[in-house]
Amino acid sequence: MEKHKIGDSIIEIVQGDITKQSDIEAIVNAANAHLRIGGGVAGAIHRAAGPELELESIKHAPIEPGEAVITGGHDLNNKYVIHCLGPVYNKDKPHEKLLADCYINALKICDERNINSIAFPAISTGIFGYPIEEATEIALKQIIECKEILNFPKIIRLVLFSDNDHEVYIKTIKKLL
Ligand code: ADP
Repeated sequence: MEKHKIGDSIIEIVQGDITKQSDIEAIVNAANAHLRIGGGVAGAIHRAAGPELELESIKHAPIEPGEAVITGGHDLNNKYVIHCLGPVYNKDKPHEKLLADCYINALKICDERNINSIAFPAISTGIFGYPIEEATEIALKQIIECKEILNFPKIIRLVLFSDNDHEVYIKTIKKLL
């Protein structure tokens, strides 16, 4: 695991599965607007959390690109799931701002509730088609910027599913810090 200190916080970059981060308080779902099960990250999180997660999440639906809402973690080992709707690349515009908003809004929820640790997948880079290099730069820049003004979370873990995405994150953070 690669770790970078920013003030009193740590950014961690790992390759793995977002549903297996049992030491993290809140995991982020790359959700769909209806906050239903779906595929990709959303499918994996809902399968691991059990049917009660969808029953709770759909009460908040629909959400707009860039928005984030919080629910309980149900059968997951995480206390919370923060559901973010990323932009569809070249459709929901401006996609740069809407993707940045996902990270800002999820981190603001942590700050408001004193949530100590969060794990993000690479929002929008799967079914929503955002190129990984561009998305990574936005995600990491936004996280670094937010950490200058927010107290919480103290641990921000970025969980990448593929080898290639993991390498892009490592390369990009070295460039930015
Ligand atoms: P979006 O619809 O926002 O593009 P996806 O769920 O399709 O969201 O994919 C987002 C990213 O998450 C992709 O890079 C995909 O490879 C990755 N991913 C898929 N499953 C998992 C998982 N279980 N844990 C972490 N990342 C995952």
